[in-house]
Amino acid sequence: MNDCLFCKIIKGEIPGSIIYRDDRIVAFNDINPQAPLHALIVPTRHIPTLNALRREDDGLVGEMVRRGAAIAAEKGYEESGYRTVFNTNPGAGQSVFHIHLHLLGGRKFTWPPG
Ligand code: AMP
Ligand code: ZN
Repeated sequence: MNDCLFCKIIKGEIPGSIIYRDDRIVAFNDINPQAPLHALIVPTRHIPTLNALRREDDGLVGEMVRRGAAIAAEKGYEESGYRTVFNTNPGAGQSVFHIHLHLLGGRKFTWPPG
């Protein structure tokens, strides 16, 4: 999708702090980090919200979650803990309509989230 910010980062049309890339998934640092580690894990294919997922995307979403866990472990947060979040639609705070898994680590997280 032409006007999608994350599609542009994936294609290298605008700069991103990329920390992982394969043909199906890209991970990059959030531009406005809410924790010492704040990465976004995104599919290379444009999917606007979780509501658009199909059964055949189950593997892709699993890869996103597993990649988040791998990055958290690489950064040393495997045992201390980390937070993973998908926001869906504006009521939940979604502002970029290309699905992304927030991965946050390095500070104490409270529950329930705001
Ligand atoms: P959400 O509000 O859940 O849709 O999350 C969107 C996230 O994208 C926010 O945490 C933003 O800080 C982040 N963001 C916006 N623009 C950029 C950018 N150019 N590079 C990296 N992260 C961005
Ligand atoms: Zn996109």
